[in-house]
Amino acid sequence: MAYTNTYIDTRGATDGRTTFTQAIIRGIASGGGLFVPKVLPRLPLDTILEFARKPYAQGATAIFRAFGVDLPSQTIDACMEAAYATNFDTPAIAPVRSLDATTHILELFHGPTLAFKDMALQCMPRFFSASLSALRAADAPEAKEDFLILVATSGDTGKAALEGFADREHTSITVYYPYEGVSSLQQAQMLTTQGSNVCVYGLRGNFDTCQTAVKQAFGDAAFAEQLARDHHLRLSSANSINWGRLLPQVVYYVNAYAQMVASGAIAAGEPIDVCVPTGNFGNILAAWYAAECGTPIERLLCASNTNRVLADFINTGIYDIREREFVTTPSPSMDILVSSNLERQLFELNGRNAEEIRTWMRALHEEQRFTVSRPTFAALRERFSADWVSVDESLDTIREVYATHHYLLDPHTAVGYAVAERLRGPNPVLLAATAHWSKFGADVCRGLVGIQAGEPLPSELAGLDGFALIRYIAAHYEYAGEVPPRMAELEGKEQRFGEVFEANVEAVEASVEEFLRNIGR
Ligand SMILES: *Cc1c(COP(=O)(O)O)cnc(C)c1O
Repeated sequence: MAYTNTYIDTRGATDGRTTFTQAIIRGIASGGGLFVPKVLPRLPLDTILEFARKPYAQGATAIFRAFGVDLPSQTIDACMEAAYATNFDTPAIAPVRSLDATTHILELFHGPTLAFKDMALQCMPRFFSASLSALRAADAPEAKEDFLILVATSGDTGKAALEGFADREHTSITVYYPYEGVSSLQQAQMLTTQGSNVCVYGLRGNFDTCQTAVKQAFGDAAFAEQLARDHHLRLSSANSINWGRLLPQVVYYVNAYAQMVASGAIAAGEPIDVCVPTGNFGNILAAWYAAECGTPIERLLCASNTNRVLADFINTGIYDIREREFVTTPSPSMDILVSSNLERQLFELNGRNAEEIRTWMRALHEEQRFTVSRPTFAALRERFSADWVSVDESLDTIREVYATHHYLLDPHTAVGYAVAERLRGPNPVLLAATAHWSKFGADVCRGLVGIQAGEPLPSELAGLDGFALIRYIAAHYEYAGEVPPRMAELEGKEQRFGEVFEANVEAVEASVEEFLRNIGR
């Protein structure tokens, strides 16, 4: 084991001696804060550029070592080699496609579930298991039991977490999704998941009510006690507040910069801006960390959809959810009111002042609103710009980019593209493409043919199911490429799950008991 870093938390409740393995198992710090590394590494430009000459997994290992992960080097290597291998449909793992000299697309959708969550969730569960084994060998108290991962999902996280945790040692996972609230292909992806330790349930409600039910299960002390006593299990979550999900995302920004230099898209050392279609603020925060580590990323362009709380915050310094309604859009993974990773970003920008963070988070909880200090706002404005686009504009962008650049965007990436066009300055822009278009066939189709969200598709398409629709798009739009084999092979695959409950905590807890009985645990 080489150098070991430790972690502090954004609310200053822990002692600053937490290691990576402990941070990934604990997920959230004891006072409700989020873990961040005490020391950020600085990579020389030469080291960054070398990423283009080695396999993606080796670059990932280099980043984890630089961040001082307390696991033996061979363990890190083994996790990375398994995480970034033929489970991705390209050896580049996260290739960069240049649309022209100024716009470059970082394709983060080549993993098993065709969305960017795979970049972290193919990696994090392996480190979760490895960390648990290491802590258990050291007789650490937090590692005595096995773990049950509970996930509430609006679509993408659920499937990526199922794939990541399937048949992983010491863990089981149950996923809850809003029944009738995810795309038909997202549902098919989840219900056909293989693995002896996985289960999926639909809940009657929207994502918010699902998430509330799952959060209540997490907060139920009696339930936790019963799981520990009867099943030797502890609950954990796989969401992006876990540092183990964030660190793998730093890797692809470093790697992308190296690729852009290697392909001649930019000169070595030339600054770029990064634009990210944003929800929970994890992906864009990873780009900020990549910049802090020495990647020449100058500005961060934060793109929101109609749920524009982040764009408004970055433009005003006021985070205010009092008057906001949660709106459902064609980019559901960005439909969010409380963006949990913003807390980490503010901590990094306010001089790591935990007391100030506690004040702001208390205000958010009690008054649904907080205002950051002037110096923090100035620090934010120095690096970030933000804007939002309407639903119609995002779907129009799909058609325009297809026509001008012969490239088919998914609805999330389209939001990013439209915002990048508005906010771009002199630097080339790297746009994070967070999903493959085929996950959202119906809205991509609306964009291509020029009809509004929610409107019926033309009569010749209206009767097609999700699979037929994406085949239609692939057949009629030559630059769409083929339907990815992973999507195609879902059709006709046996659906292993299908139970649907009311969205409440009792149903969630009962389903956990049922699942544990079924797997004989
Ligand atoms: C999760 C997700 C996002 C939002 O990413 P954050 O890290 O939460 O900001 C954007 N697009 C897609 C397709 C996603 O799945």
